[in-house]
Amino acid sequence: MTVVKICKMHGELDFSKVIKAKVTVKGEQRYRCKLCMQELHKPHYEKNREKVLTAHATYRNQDPKKYQEIKNASKRKMYALHLDKYRKDRDEREKRNPEKKKLRQQRYKNKSVESLSDAYIKQNLVRETNLKFADVPQELVETKRASMQFKRLIKSKLNNKEE
Ligand SMILES: [Zn+2]
Repeated sequence: MTVVKICKMHGELDFSKVIKAKVTVKGEQRYRCKLCMQELHKPHYEKNREKVLTAHATYRNQDPKKYQEIKNASKRKMYALHLDKYRKDRDEREKRNPEKKKLRQQRYKNKSVESLSDAYIKQNLVRETNLKFADVPQELVETKRASMQFKRLIKSKLNNKEE
């Protein structure tokens, strides 16, 4: 553990337990204790909590679709920012419930097939060869994708005719 700050309340702190403060004239980065800062701002958050919740409810009622969109976007952003933590939580959940992992992998596979993801196309190209994904040039992926899209189009037209 790299100790970057010693807090009077919370002792030795590493990077995960501090937030950046200002840089001194000598160019040293200063840090503040995250826990202490949270304590300091708590009364403000609690006072605002009620207000924020009411504002959310109002917005949700006015435009539920937009509200959901914004919420999803914010979720994705948080997910991207804290990828390691989310993955760790998920792995722990799935360890307790292996069925969940299977379902997630199935969802991922379906999505990959449906959207003709690079990975799915590369898998198609390297199947029954000794090639690795890295051996497949991107142009080939694009060509193969176009060809697969075309095949799907033809298939869907044929299916429509039969109906
Ligand atoms: Zn502290």
